[in-house]
Amino acid sequence: MPFAPPLIGEEEIAEVVDTLRSSWITTGPKTRQFETDFAAYLQAPGALAVSSCTAALHTALVSARVGPGDEVITTPMTFAASVNVIEHVGARPVLVDVEPDTLNLDPKNVAAAMTPRTRAILAVHYAGHPAELDALSAIAAARGGDCILVEDAAHALPARYRGRPIGSGGNPTAFSFYATKNLTTAEGGMLTAAPEFLAQARIVGLHGMSRDAWKRYAQGGSWYYEVLLPGFKYNMTDIQAALGLWQLRKLARFQQRRAEIVDQYNRAFADEPALELPVTRPEVEHAWHLYVVRLRLDALSIDRNRFIHELAARNIGTSVHFIPIHLHPYYRDRYGFSPASFPVAYANYERMLSLPLAPRLSDADVGDVIEAVRDVVRSFRT
Ligand SMILES: *Cc1c(COP(=O)(O)O)cnc(C)c1O
Repeated sequence: MPFAPPLIGEEEIAEVVDTLRSSWITTGPKTRQFETDFAAYLQAPGALAVSSCTAALHTALVSARVGPGDEVITTPMTFAASVNVIEHVGARPVLVDVEPDTLNLDPKNVAAAMTPRTRAILAVHYAGHPAELDALSAIAAARGGDCILVEDAAHALPARYRGRPIGSGGNPTAFSFYATKNLTTAEGGMLTAAPEFLAQARIVGLHGMSRDAWKRYAQGGSWYYEVLLPGFKYNMTDIQAALGLWQLRKLARFQQRRAEIVDQYNRAFADEPALELPVTRPEVEHAWHLYVVRLRLDALSIDRNRFIHELAARNIGTSVHFIPIHLHPYYRDRYGFSPASFPVAYANYERMLSLPLAPRLSDADVGDVIEAVRDVVRSFRT
């Protein structure tokens, strides 16, 4: 069983074909429509469609003028892209340890790591559970306008924090439409932010040009543009947006199915002492991008790697989210980290695995996963 197969329907296929038969295949009317629909769905002040979440994060940091000499506080419990973009702008990533339950950025560690050079806090809504936005916003706001909160919402579409959709708050927020994410355009991303910030991001994300190509070539457009800064080539194509338009219309249904699967896992494993199940704090709505179980290693005679191997032998694909940033050779060597530098992230990494979770899974598929997990636990209980 694949870990997270995409769910692409006939509507997406027809819309892509329609784009291919039209005279406009790159950034154009479908991209603009996708931005409008996406912003409306999240009650966001505005949205910029880009080529990836990585591009959205990079664009956000450049637009906020974060650069050499600056520090950005973030989490080790994320995909490398969240931290690589900090290196891309020449700033220093300052990792701090996570909360033991949600594995999100711990606000008290963030507060302790603030220095006069801190220009941004980059929060990742791990697995789809929103980070502590009120506390993190307050820490950033205490610096006046000098420090911004940027959200990596690659997992958090759609999620809510205290009733408010992630992406609606005006902080620059980056979404991913990579093949495995809750909504996919094969590759793609979106940046939501306040209108003034987005106006700058639109320039940064397309060569630093003051007008984009669609406006220039459309009827009534002008051939004239100015390059205001050496920007990047991060635009989304209408072929991708064609997928996104339909994926967005289906998102509520996809989420309903994710929640059902989570419910089945939760009920099946509730009384299993060898497994620690994901938490949902009362103030959030979880996007359930990932279902991460943590093994109670003292209740088992095997480690996490062997547990994954045993599930694979039973035809169940799993993954690990994530190998903490501080273990990767580039970051380990550049900043002199050891595994113990972030003990909560490390200890949880050692015992975590992500079970299959995707709207395409049938009840029979979910039953197979449950049976396989139970069988492995039964076989290796201490
Ligand atoms: C997938 C992912 C990204 C990168 O998304 P892309 O669209 O592939 O650039 C960034 N951060 C996190 C936490 C992710 O899971």
